[in-house]
Amino acid sequence: MSRPTTASLFGDLDVDVSFDAPIGVESWFCTGGTADLLLRPADPSTLAEIVRRCRRTALPLRIMGEGANLLVDDDGVDGVVVRLDREGFRAVERNADGEVGLVRVGAGADLSRTLMDLARSGLQGLEPLMGVPASIGGAIRMNAGGAFGSIGDAVHAVCALDADGIERVYPADELRFEYRRTNLVDPIVLWAVFKVEQVDPIALRTRIKEIAAYKKSTQPLGDKSAGCMFKNPIDPDSGDRISAGRIIDESGLKGLRIGSAEVSPRHANFLTVDRGGRARDVIELGDEVMRRVRDGRGIELEREVVVWRRPGEEDEA
Ligand SMILES: Cc1cc2nc3c(=O)[nH]c(=O)nc-3n(C[C@H](O)[C@H](O)[C@H](O)COP(=O)(O)OP(=O)(O)OC[C@H]3O[C@@H](n4cnc5c(N)ncnc54)[C@H](O)[C@@H]3O)c2cc1C
Repeated sequence: MSRPTTASLFGDLDVDVSFDAPIGVESWFCTGGTADLLLRPADPSTLAEIVRRCRRTALPLRIMGEGANLLVDDDGVDGVVVRLDREGFRAVERNADGEVGLVRVGAGADLSRTLMDLARSGLQGLEPLMGVPASIGGAIRMNAGGAFGSIGDAVHAVCALDADGIERVYPADELRFEYRRTNLVDPIVLWAVFKVEQVDPIALRTRIKEIAAYKKSTQPLGDKSAGCMFKNPIDPDSGDRISAGRIIDESGLKGLRIGSAEVSPRHANFLTVDRGGRARDVIELGDEVMRRVRDGRGIELEREVVVWRRPGEEDEA
């Protein structure tokens, strides 16, 4: 579809429109290509209309959060990429539905900022996610978490837009949060309500500092990456999940390099890329790690990082 046609398709809506938007360099990898068309709608009703129009015109639609679990191929992506970073998607409402123990947070809100704001008032619930870079929507989609818990543990309800642009609210008992996935099939998270508990703010602050220090000591947070590249696989013998990082390390792959991409010498499940490097190097290095682990250990690694590509080279999620 040509530029004038796509521009006119959304021109009557309250939406910021950019062509050839540099979403790759705005991701945490700081590398990769552009989005043919980036839309930043003002509010959920505008977003719902975008969803309907994309569907009607068969335009692919992708949602980008903070790009902390995303690798955009160097050739970029077609269709429409939507970001929910305008005010209409970032509201934080305490005492949601009149309940002191509930907080409603828009999908575009920053997870760390939200949990710190809540912590200042002594509201605990999201602190296990300290140090996980994410929007609320991206964290729900990925069921982000780690050694201290996952976001799904704190969820009371989620509101999503379905493929027809209709809002649907799911109470926690209809949702299943599993390791880095949920059963939510609707394409867009709009907001989530979290359970919070009033505790001593000073003790909560100490706990947050401990979690942040643990994360800093175990992960190469200063390098360009999207966190763990692979999900922890199931051990074929025990049936339990085992650390992908440990398997990659035991396979002798720390420091393995393809072009600008490297298996981090500090944490083998982090693939990092040099400043100004290529997304394709990261993709190829990931493929090589998967191949060597398959050949050496008989274990099939699965990417946790979402890779966006043009048609012909399908996305991986
Ligand atoms: C340094 C570093 C450390 C990390 N540590 C951890 C960790 O400890 N634990 C962990 O779980 N992850 C970790 N990650 C990965 C990342 O933080 C999480 O996966 C996070 O949830 C990504 O959120 P995002 O908003 O950046 O999503 P994006 O990366 O922008 O998108 C990820 C996926 O979510 C989808 N998505 C985004 N927003 C929405 C929405 N509103 N509705 C529906 N789908 C949406 C996207 O389409 C895409 O499929 C780390 C990443 C980095 C860079």
